[in-house]
Amino acid sequence: MLVKFYGTRGSVPVCTPDFQEFGGNTTCLCIKDKETNSIAVIDAGTGIRELGKDLIESKHKQDEIFIAFTHFHWDHIQGFPFFAPAFNKKQKINILALGWGKQITCLKDIFKTQMQKEFFPVQLEKMGAKFKFMLLKETKRVFKTQAKRPKPVIVKTNKHRHPGGVYGYRIELDGKAMVFCTDVEHLNSIDKKVVKLAERADLLIHDAQFTDEELKKKRGWGHSSFSQAIEVAERANVKMLALTHHDPDHDDGFLRKMEKKCQHRFKDSFLAREKMEIEL
Ligand SMILES: [Zn+2]
Ligand SMILES: [Zn+2]
Repeated sequence: MLVKFYGTRGSVPVCTPDFQEFGGNTTCLCIKDKETNSIAVIDAGTGIRELGKDLIESKHKQDEIFIAFTHFHWDHIQGFPFFAPAFNKKQKINILALGWGKQITCLKDIFKTQMQKEFFPVQLEKMGAKFKFMLLKETKRVFKTQAKRPKPVIVKTNKHRHPGGVYGYRIELDGKAMVFCTDVEHLNSIDKKVVKLAERADLLIHDAQFTDEELKKKRGWGHSSFSQAIEVAERANVKMLALTHHDPDHDDGFLRKMEKKCQHRFKDSFLAREKMEIEL
């Protein structure tokens, strides 16, 4: 699989010049099956706008596009009204909230509210694409992709600590595993459930919004420190670690320094940059 970061910034997009290396758009991840060329998306932060443009420019054809959500905070949904394929009448888009079943009454309402006339000129029903809202109680689902692919895609989720709740995702395809744990708080010790979800992953993408010092003042904000992310990677024996959800006050120079420190402790780690692509 190919994993591409379209948004790596946490909380709010930033556009000042000293934030361009790591990127200013908020969370959006695209996962591509190299064999079938089909994609799946996790979260629709402002980065999804660029993804939409890329899909149209490359004349990408896919009957149904899945957009899975970790949770629905602004920085993870803000780009949704600007996702160009959602305005194509022929496009089917499945909005997936795996595991969320019991905690939301209506998944469609979240997006309908976001696009109500006071907030946005085009309402959800007028966008064009055929939406299917999949609010599921189960935390694991096996997706059969195209006939030419013998192995299915296994998607697992797990609820983690974050204001309002968040779900981490584990995607397994052709014996490779990618785990995405953003917006997660560990409190005094590392959350064992996060370690379990990340167990032996080829790539773990983990929240690293704060330094340890900052975290002391930001208990309850729902995020991790760089060193906590590394601790999860070490305990879970992952092959590669990508740190993401960069704080909107951490500029390129600061993040570059943090990346060096992280690599000193965990060799195969890096800070996620917008449009960076990782092949697994
Ligand atoms: Zn966030
Ligand atoms: Zn959040």
